[in-house]
Amino acid sequence: MNRYGKDILVDTKMGKILLESEVIKNEDYEWLKDMLENDENHSIKYSQLNELDESKKTFMTSSLFSNLYSIASDEWEIDHLNEDGEKLECSLCGEKNTVKKYYIRNKKSNKILNVGSTCITNFKDIKGINGKTKEEIDKEWEKQQRQKLLNDRYNGIIYKIENWQNNIDKIPTIVSEELENEYDKLNRDIQKLYEKFIKNKKLDYSIADKINELVCQGDNILNKIYLDMKEKEKNEWFITKEIKEWCLKDSNENQVVIRFLKEDGIIRLRSACRIYEKNFINKIIKKFEIILKNSNIKLIGYEEKNKSFIVNLIDKNPYTNRIDLNCSYKDFMYEFGEKLFEKTYNNNFIDAKEFFMQNSNINEESSLSASVSNIKFLSSKSLIRIYKWDIRYNEIVFLGKDDKYYIVELKKFVNLFKKCVFSKKLDNDQIKSINEYVLKNAEEINKEEYENRIEMREKADRAMQVDYSNFA
Ligand SMILES: [Zn+2]
Repeated sequence: MNRYGKDILVDTKMGKILLESEVIKNEDYEWLKDMLENDENHSIKYSQLNELDESKKTFMTSSLFSNLYSIASDEWEIDHLNEDGEKLECSLCGEKNTVKKYYIRNKKSNKILNVGSTCITNFKDIKGINGKTKEEIDKEWEKQQRQKLLNDRYNGIIYKIENWQNNIDKIPTIVSEELENEYDKLNRDIQKLYEKFIKNKKLDYSIADKINELVCQGDNILNKIYLDMKEKEKNEWFITKEIKEWCLKDSNENQVVIRFLKEDGIIRLRSACRIYEKNFINKIIKKFEIILKNSNIKLIGYEEKNKSFIVNLIDKNPYTNRIDLNCSYKDFMYEFGEKLFEKTYNNNFIDAKEFFMQNSNINEESSLSASVSNIKFLSSKSLIRIYKWDIRYNEIVFLGKDDKYYIVELKKFVNLFKKCVFSKKLDNDQIKSINEYVLKNAEEINKEEYENRIEMREKADRAMQVDYSNFA
């Protein structure tokens, strides 16, 4: 007997675990195996120890035996859990009415045993095949049971609950804020109830019924969202699937426009200024082509690189006619967009030239060249005249009365004196300000130095050409 007065050293459950394990097959433990097999209950009593020799007696009463038992029980893991209503006999204790059956598998022999929920506790630290603890397996099991009950009562409801957000994502437009909020709020309420239904100890079908009621409300809202979309599709400023995808591709960058679209439900000027989606831009261009038909502005196209419209100001001057201007899409839309989005616009573009003088740039090479050429013509009688220019080196060379060369940055100069570029005639003040600018900002260089520089450049160019021919 042990110190608690109990005579059992190895009980039936332990005995069976040992007998079903692989470690007991080691010949060192043959005597123990025999002892367990010969006992009808597969147990060992303290009183039986007297039959053993000293070393075996020590083995059984020391930590050596507990270690062996640990090794044996560690051989097992939970394979799966079943509670299908069928009653089975527990493999360890013989209890005939186990309903919740843990199927445990010996990792070495692959043998499977079914044990009841009490006997499973004999396996300290037993884990499931994917490393889950028994508690986790139990919890998951209970969750699945509850889900099953809910789904049996309301067919397909679990799928609906778990795919709630997908429904909004799948809609091929940006849903208006009001409807989406309504839909989201239901979702939050449903998730709360769903968790309650699954986690509450007591099964409460009134919660299930409430969940179903909310899910049906959700279906109604979804229906409303689709009808709303069908209605908005008729509007020329409907938020298309492409625009939605464009917005979401960079949802951080497009936060503001997404917010506007949700608030407005369709595209309005404030969002249109911020949408650079290809099809949308093309649509804007086409609309402007019609509006601008009888004006003196021609929209040539869109430059993706710097998100700008290329514009030509139609005047009768053959020089300036060749000059294209780049105006940022956003600025352009802010200035003229109302004409697209407000029904009562008029076709008045009187101030357009002034606007472009302030809000556009001349970037493109032939336009830059035409600009310099025009200023040269207009300022030919000035004290400092344009002598030559080079787009590649971004320079204009002015010749002073002192025979000195004054070199300024071409692009900067042209854009600074854009108004002069588009003038028919320069007045004295304009000429004066050009002269002042050149004197103040130019690199001053004498004729000889300049010619040396040109010679060096030509040499470098020729060297490049030699290189190319080598490759050919
Ligand atoms: Zn049992």
